[in-house]
Amino acid sequence: MLYETKGPYFFKDGQKKGKAVETLMFQDFFYLDQLYERMEKKYKGLQGKNSLHKHLEWIMNRAREVKPVKLCRFCEKKPIAYISIRSSKSGTTISHHFSCCEDQACKNKLKSESPNLNPQLVPANLFSLRLRIFNKAWKRKQFLGLLRFIYGLEGKLTTKRAFEFFKNA
Ligand SMILES: [Zn+2]
Repeated sequence: MLYETKGPYFFKDGQKKGKAVETLMFQDFFYLDQLYERMEKKYKGLQGKNSLHKHLEWIMNRAREVKPVKLCRFCEKKPIAYISIRSSKSGTTISHHFSCCEDQACKNKLKSESPNLNPQLVPANLFSLRLRIFNKAWKRKQFLGLLRFIYGLEGKLTTKRAFEFFKNA
C-alpha cells in the first residue's frame, strides 16, 4: 500500500530533534540521504518500516519529481536542468549564472564560456549532492541555496512551505 503522509515529519530525538524532514532536505540533504540509506540496508526485505523510514522514502521519491521553475538564460524557454560547477585555483564557483536547460545547444554554449576551467555539468536536483564534487559542507550549502532559488523557494523556508513543495511535486 502506498504511504500517504498527512503532514511534515519532525524528529523527536537525536541530533535533529525538533527539526522537520521537509526543511532539512534543503539544509542538510546529506544527513537525510545517509540516514535513509542506512535504514534501507537494515530493513532490506523486512517488514515493519517505522514512520520516519516511510516518510523518508516518500520524500526521496517526491524529490525526484520536483521541477526547477527558473528558465535557462540561453534559450529562455526551458527550465534549468544543469548547473556548471567551475573549479580553478582560486576556488569553486556555483552560481545561477552558470546553468542551462537540457538541450545540447544550450549545454554547449555554457561550456564554451569557460573552456579552460573544464566545468562539470551536474543535474539541478538534490541527488547531485551525492557526487564527489560536493565532498565539502560549504559546497553542499552553496548548491542547496542555489537549488532553492531554481525551485522558486527563495526567502524564508517554513516547514509548511517545504512540505507543500514536495507534496505538490
Ligand atoms: Zn536552454
